[in-house]
Amino acid sequence: MLILKSRQELTDFVQSIRAKRLTIGFVPTMGALHEGHLFLIKKAIEENQYTLCSIFVNPTQFNNSADLEKYPRTEETDIKKLESAGCDAVYLPKVEDMYPSGFENDPIDLGGLDSVMEGAFRPGHFQGMATVVKRLLLQTQPTKAYFGEKDFQQLQIIRQMVRNEKLPVEIIGVPIVREESGLAMSSRNMRLSPEFKERSVFIYHTLLKAKELSSQLSPQQIISEVEKIYSNSDFKLEYFTIAEEKTLQTHDKFEENSRYRAFVAAFAGEIRLIDNIQIR
Ligand code: AMP
Repeated sequence: MLILKSRQELTDFVQSIRAKRLTIGFVPTMGALHEGHLFLIKKAIEENQYTLCSIFVNPTQFNNSADLEKYPRTEETDIKKLESAGCDAVYLPKVEDMYPSGFENDPIDLGGLDSVMEGAFRPGHFQGMATVVKRLLLQTQPTKAYFGEKDFQQLQIIRQMVRNEKLPVEIIGVPIVREESGLAMSSRNMRLSPEFKERSVFIYHTLLKAKELSSQLSPQQIISEVEKIYSNSDFKLEYFTIAEEKTLQTHDKFEENSRYRAFVAAFAGEIRLIDNIQIR
């Protein structure tokens, strides 16, 4: 596997692949890789002639500097995992490669999709994310880029950005990979205490409960039921909501020809976890 440590090395790689008219599947990550990331890599390998992963912990998408500092960094094991998964190249940009003139965000219209859920609770997060993803897509010039439904709001925002900015890439959404228990895999799970690691499947169970209730109750009634369950638990709920998949807006009632998802962000002790599930 090629290890590309600078923008120049990446550019040389991309040019050589493009000159041969081969397809590139790209998987951007922040490292601390787990089976969820490796599933994206597997999809990219299946659908493209070359697979490129990037690892970059993007400072501008952290609204909390302690969270950025504590974000797990496991570069050596990440490289080994990518190699065993059959990835062709990994791009490890330096901060200067992504932000040559300081930490300003690009003005990208996210169409209001960034004002709800994660956007409401993590101000500036999606502008930072969109800036780095746009820059990575421009640098890597992939045929297809892969994003997990674990971050469903992020996936929809990227789709919108790619349409608006007319970026020549196909965005592929990949289903959530879960632990056997049902807990969604996340780099943040490493920071859970063993006790919380075991109990955090609670979050997935509340999503399943919402799905079960969706045959009888309205979105708002389901949200109230689930909020009650959280108020009697050890998990501090930041939000639990049900939104239509394209607009990410909450509806008063379930419409026949729309798809809905339940979305949650909750604290397991100090660690903030997010998850979602399609309910209708
Ligand atoms: P991150 O390193 O957390 O920025 O994630 C990089 C990519 O992996 C994003 O597109 C995530 O949505 C995706 N991802 C993270 N966890 C999972 C998971 N459990 N299942 C599927 N995709 C995931």
